Amino acid sequence: MTHPTDVRAGALNGPVSIVRCNDYQIDGVRAALHEALAPLGGMAAFVKPGERIGLKPNLLLGSDPDQAIVTHPAVLAAVALEVREAGASPVVLESPGSGIIPSPRVLARQFAKAGYQAVADSNGFELSLETEWDWVPYAEGRAFKKVEIVRSAMQVDGLINIPKFKTHSWMILTGATKNLFGLIPGLTKVGYHGKYPQKERFAEMLLDVAALMKPRLNVMDAVVGMEGQGPGTGGKPRNVGLLLAGADTISMDAVCCGIAGFDLRAVPVVERALAHGLWDGRLAGVPVFGPAVADVAVRDFKPPVKGVASNGLELPVIGEVGRNFLRNGFSPRPRPQVGPCTICGSCEQACPVQAISMEKKPRVARVDDEKCIRCYCCHEVCPHAAIELRFTGAGRLMHGLGIV
Ligand code: SF4
Ligand code: SF4
Repeated sequence: MTHPTDVRAGALNGPVSIVRCNDYQIDGVRAALHEALAPLGGMAAFVKPGERIGLKPNLLLGSDPDQAIVTHPAVLAAVALEVREAGASPVVLESPGSGIIPSPRVLARQFAKAGYQAVADSNGFELSLETEWDWVPYAEGRAFKKVEIVRSAMQVDGLINIPKFKTHSWMILTGATKNLFGLIPGLTKVGYHGKYPQKERFAEMLLDVAALMKPRLNVMDAVVGMEGQGPGTGGKPRNVGLLLAGADTISMDAVCCGIAGFDLRAVPVVERALAHGLWDGRLAGVPVFGPAVADVAVRDFKPPVKGVASNGLELPVIGEVGRNFLRNGFSPRPRPQVGPCTICGSCEQACPVQAISMEKKPRVARVDDEKCIRCYCCHEVCPHAAIELRFTGAGRLMHGLGIV
């Protein structure tokens, strides 16, 4: 058994524990969590009696947990109960996705829609309705030297990150690292998409947030994951049947890539982590407790856009700079659809470059392709799965050739 000191946050190639978990019965999830934490030293290796521990789920938008958009409330409850059994006080904190104005009333509604209020009431743990935030300095940052973070996250003794195993139309994977982006308050997140329009820089910003917030532990809800055009209503629930735990967000994300069958270099967070020496780039180098990654990999797991799970053709003439140019220049475009679109305006609010407007005839959101930076925030926040991502013209040709 690995000694607990080996599993702390920030350890290079930290271990990941994988346990099978086939449904969301709280007792079963709790037993699976207990089993996952055992080789890491148990919850006692991560929290101390008397501490106040923040739990950060993925609450992209308040929705039925069966849609697999949010961390399931049973997983949240299992972690909260385990924290409490270790003698600490759990408090759930979150600042849901772009386009939702953060106020205690709105936050309470999101918690209720996701089933968090119900599990908190029945299991007696706290949901923070704090929506204030502060600038937090981070001198070591590669992408920023200070960042806005919700105040509640800075007021706890430690954090446990509870992401959902999901695809992401821009970042390919919504894993452990990206889940911490949710600590940047509500609509403020939109500005970060505008400030870091290239996926590599955006990934570096995400790595900075993760390094700053340094969760002590990550518990991934991969019981039912999301495939296809995630992370919002565009994706489809997919049974994965797993619970993952580990202190290193990069190891967690690398293992997720292995389970989903994604090329590690195609996932910007993982690729940038490798570029900056935050891990050694080998999935085989991540110690795994439990079944081997290959044995739990999901066959034909659908990536967010067909073909993006690979990094495209190896074209030495083009090189990395050229490939990035092609990928950014010819990536799919958001296309709101007449019919499902209710012109609710959420995408307009979420767009960092004001590229979206509402049209009355026909009733549909319109995207200005000249302004659009392909961040897909609109696709992420649309509550009606009304935005399709489509390759057009040369982009379709490049995509067909496997270049983008
Ligand atoms: S595309 Fe979606 S988010 Fe945008 S206005 Fe239509 S329904 Fe609302
Ligand atoms: S329209 Fe373009 S820039 Fe605006 S949110 Fe959608 S993808 Fe991002």
